[in-house]
Order: sequence, then C-alpha cells, then structure tokens
Amino acid sequence: MNAHPAHPAHPVSPRLIFDRAPLRVYWELTRACDLACRHCRAEAVKHRSSGELSTAEGLHLLERLHAFGERQPHVVLTGGDPLKRPDLWVLIAAARGLGLPVALAPSATGLLGPEEILRFREFGVEAISLSLDGSTPARHDAFRGIAGTFERTLAAARAAQEAGLPFQINTLVAEETLDDLPAIYLLANELGAARWSLGSRRSRDRVAVWSSPPPKPRTSAV
Ligand code: SF4
Repeated sequence: MNAHPAHPAHPVSPRLIFDRAPLRVYWELTRACDLACRHCRAEAVKHRSSGELSTAEGLHLLERLHAFGERQPHVVLTGGDPLKRPDLWVLIAAARGLGLPVALAPSATGLLGPEEILRFREFGVEAISLSLDGSTPARHDAFRGIAGTFERTLAAARAAQEAGLPFQINTLVAEETLDDLPAIYLLANELGAARWSLGSRRSRDRVAVWSSPPPKPRTSAV
C-alpha cells in the first residue's frame, strides 16, 4: 500500500517523505546555559546533567543518523547552550567527517567569542542562529535575564559576518516584542543576517519571513 498517495497534479517530492529519513534533526546537547531567558522552552539550568548523552553515545547517534544513507539529515546542535559541552568540537568534527550538514544554535554568553565563531567556520558548520528579542539593550536583556547579552549578540553577529559564517536571527513574537519588531527587522538587516526567523512561545516551529537581499520568503534552517 502506498502510504503517500500523490495527486497526479501534485506529486510528492521524495524529499518530503519523512518515514525514510528526517530532513532535520534538532539535538539538544545539554540543558545547561548561562542565560536565564523568561521564555526558555528548554527549561535551561546552570549545570550539565549526568543524564546527557556521553561523548561515545553522541558519536553513536551521529553514526545512526549517517546510516539513513543517501538522504543525510541536517543536524542542528542546540540546547541549552551547545558551548557548555567541552566535547562540542569532537561532535561537530565527527558529524562533518560523516558528511552530515551541521548548524548550531549557541547562546550569546562569554563562551561565544570571535575565536569560537571562526572555529565553527573552520569545522564546516554551515550556519548559526542568534536570538534577538529586542532592538535595544534594555528590551533584549530584560528577556534574556542577563545584562550585556544584547551587546554580546551584536558582537557575535558581526564576528560571524566577518568570518563569512551565515547567521540567522531568531525573534520571539510576543506581546512584549510586537511593537519592537520593525526595529528588530532593521537591526537584523543592518547586521547582515541571512534570515530572520519568527517564533512563538507555544511552538518551536518557526517561520522565516525575510532574507536579505532581496526580501523574499524562505524556510528556517536553524
Ligand atoms: S539562551 Fe536558549 S537555552 Fe539559554 S536560557 Fe535562553 S532560551 Fe534557554
């Protein structure tokens, strides 16, 4: 029986048959994160848990993803903050060695500097995402719970731009950010973001509404 009957006028692309292989795998490497965002879906905590996958288990997971064969899923390393894991670089190198495309969602903390961004590029990371929920330090930092996060985010975006590492700006659409969205849009554009991705508190599904230049709808990658 064909589980995916396609209307002759609208054939289903083989890329959209998800029971053969996922297109993207979001791996929450850890719940540890040094920020304290009000809307944290991951319920981040300060310290890593003993329940996380070990390095060996993580490498095994990557091999299993690689075993999907021809249709290699895109691996998005997220958290918490992926940079809280010292073995992050081992995992990225292993994924890239297997041929898995890798993107990353780091937190804008002291762990994310120009050296790390350059290293992402050198390790073959395709793109990173950075969260920006306000167009001013006061607005953004009020969301993120730690003073200075706005400046760190802008510094990371500029370092990524300089390193030639594409980055996406993620913005939460909520009552608190609604009137600031036009200014965030302008700031993301000015920083050189490849995409602006809007999300809600209810779901991790995101909609990329803009790419630059020229503005046109695209789907979200990170
Ligand atoms: S940066 Fe992400 S993981 Fe860290 S507290 Fe904020 S929402 Fe949670």
